[in-house]
Amino acid sequence: MAIRNLRYDGDPILRKISKEVKEVTPRIEELIDDMFETMEAENGCGLAGPQVGVLKRIFVIDVGDGPMEFINPVILEKSGSQTGGEGCLSLPGKIATVTRPNHVVCEAYDRHMNKFRIEGEELLARAICHEYDHLDGVLYKDVADGPLCNVDDYEEE
Ligand code: ZN
Repeated sequence: MAIRNLRYDGDPILRKISKEVKEVTPRIEELIDDMFETMEAENGCGLAGPQVGVLKRIFVIDVGDGPMEFINPVILEKSGSQTGGEGCLSLPGKIATVTRPNHVVCEAYDRHMNKFRIEGEELLARAICHEYDHLDGVLYKDVADGPLCNVDDYEEE
């Protein structure tokens, strides 16, 4: 396992559309392991392929319930809403207020290409939406309610 170099806001790769994964090769398994390691090392709660320079529809999340991997995710349902501060490893030191669904149902595959369905509430719902957006080249600042702030100056509304 290895820590991968992060891509930061301004890097054109973050604006590209990621491709579906057709087969989980040993290289992709290694990528997923590296993404977990990188996310942990950076104290993030989510990381998507483009953020480590790989345009594949893969993201990993850990919001405190253990690491979860999502391959070819699809968000089937969104409901409710939550408004709060959101950050991203590709925009270090920044935060903005973003309104997201409070509940999502997501279907994805794990590395064994077993399909699973997960219901996310609150932080998990936020993380799934945020990471999913990365796969379509969208950053949270694009969908934020307000301007990007420095973490130290940010006040929760
Ligand atoms: Zn992000």
